[in-house]
Amino acid sequence: MAGEPQADCLFCKIVAGEVPATVVRETGTTLAFRDINPQAPTHVLVIPKAHYPDAASLAAAEPSVAADVLREAGQVAVDEKVEESGYRIIFNTGAGAGQTVFHAHAHVLGGRGLNWPPG
Ligand code: 5GP
Ligand code: ZN
Repeated sequence: MAGEPQADCLFCKIVAGEVPATVVRETGTTLAFRDINPQAPTHVLVIPKAHYPDAASLAAAEPSVAADVLREAGQVAVDEKVEESGYRIIFNTGAGAGQTVFHAHAHVLGGRGLNWPPG
């Protein structure tokens, strides 16, 4: 069923507590934790607890949870004190765009200069 945990999904395992993560925020529908390979001083991943392969499929199936992910990304930026300096919310979508974990996730990046366009 759409949104159900997937046995072979790393981020479902983090939601279930089967794989450890440095959690910075949690709500009923979302989890935010530090990226294991940070690309900036602030690099936090915000995920829906429900499993959807990417942001667009999450938004199509559960738009309110997609909004929760975005709201939490903004709260992470406040908590990390990067709201004023600026930060980036990224949803890599598809292997060709660098997506490696097929459970929807927002990257929240900040704390250094961020070039545009990104690589
Ligand atoms: P993607 O490339 O799919 O957009 O992003 C996946 C992100 O997950 C990468 O930035 C990668 O560093 C991060 N990641 C991969 N495995 C783990 C893990 O076990 N724990 C944490 N916290 N992050 C992970
Ligand atoms: Zn998953």
